[in-house]
Amino acid sequence: MALVNEHFLKLPNNYLFADIAKKVNAFKVTHPKSDVISLGIGDVTQPLCPAVIEAIHRAADEMATAQSFRGYGPEQGYDFLREAILKNDFLPRGIHLDIDEIFINDGAKSDTGNIQELIRWDNSIGVTDPIYPVYIDSNVMIGRAGVQQDGRWTNVEYMPCNSENGFIPDLPDRRIDVIYLCFPNNPTGTVVTKQELRKWVNYALKNDTLIFFDAAYQAYIQDPDIPHSIYEIRGARKCAIEFHSYSKTAGFTGVRCGYTIVPKELTAATLQGERIALNPLWLRRQSTKFNGTSYISQRAAEAIYTPEGREQVRATISYYMQNAKKMLSVLRNLGYECYGGENAPYIWMRTPGNTTSWQFFEQLLYGANVVCTPGVGFGPSGEGYVRFTAFGSHEDTDEALERIRKWEVNEKK
Ligand SMILES: *Cc1c(COP(=O)(O)O)cnc(C)c1O
Repeated sequence: MALVNEHFLKLPNNYLFADIAKKVNAFKVTHPKSDVISLGIGDVTQPLCPAVIEAIHRAADEMATAQSFRGYGPEQGYDFLREAILKNDFLPRGIHLDIDEIFINDGAKSDTGNIQELIRWDNSIGVTDPIYPVYIDSNVMIGRAGVQQDGRWTNVEYMPCNSENGFIPDLPDRRIDVIYLCFPNNPTGTVVTKQELRKWVNYALKNDTLIFFDAAYQAYIQDPDIPHSIYEIRGARKCAIEFHSYSKTAGFTGVRCGYTIVPKELTAATLQGERIALNPLWLRRQSTKFNGTSYISQRAAEAIYTPEGREQVRATISYYMQNAKKMLSVLRNLGYECYGGENAPYIWMRTPGNTTSWQFFEQLLYGANVVCTPGVGFGPSGEGYVRFTAFGSHEDTDEALERIRKWEVNEKK
């Protein structure tokens, strides 16, 4: 008899975006004439930039002849891309990495989900709350998170992020083995300064904590003083693994490519106290379970670092950030309390009065035909907030804002 991994059964059946889709569909069935604009889901809308498209065509042509055909590639990625990453994403920030510290992947979701395989099942884990659900759910599946009670997992330390603490939680007052951080943050759109991040690195060094740092949105940082990588902080190589993604940076949500940094200095302990380097373990894990990212996707990612590619990617990011700016300005003018949106493509908005996230979601859907994401879907501290994304087209974003404005005006009459 095959026994199932019962930890899977602890996961709530419904995924946040499936719940949203269900409610939107119910609305569409009862209101067939209304069209709905989604500022909800975190997917990009603008096409790949020309430099990337050209690289994809060239790579496809290489596959067409026996001389230049590529089969299985190195699981940790091709050197051409790893070198481009070293030179462009790290050296200019004074970070010197070894090429073997870079692991190309098919996106940050896979690796932020898989990385916990490197640590024992009985480590304590801490997350900022609200949070990208993958971090916790991947720990649930292996039994590390405990059971869910009142929307919280019993073995997870939640570090609340709210307007009172500026969405940067206090340092935990006890030792936690592993902490997930994500800045710029999804869903709150907030960032940490170097000074703040240094506190986390120092905490980790002092408590022998391992930090999993998700930098998926670093390309959206506009303020020159905000760190793009945790390795800008001294000592971080001894305590942090960092995840990057081209999904939001360059619209690769359908292409699939990203990378993870596992520094060679980084170790974790055995029960006997022996220190084990994690870099070779991750290499071993990846070469066993991962086939590498496709050659074509890696050539596409490389093209982002060419002068044309950089310029084009920057233009798309600034297109989205124009949306964010407009959203902030319109929503604040209507009297809403908004956060984020300045160094990230997300606006985190407080719902008025005692309206819950889901109540506001429905009011906005029925009143303005606009979809947002209920904050509570990202964790208990997200209750009383909703998330708007800046990933829409200008036209959709403008139209959605106009609808919200009209709805607000009518409400208040
Ligand atoms: C979108 C996102 C990712 C990246 O996902 P990919 O798998 O690279 O597409 C990672 N972390 C967060 C917080 C995200 O929002």
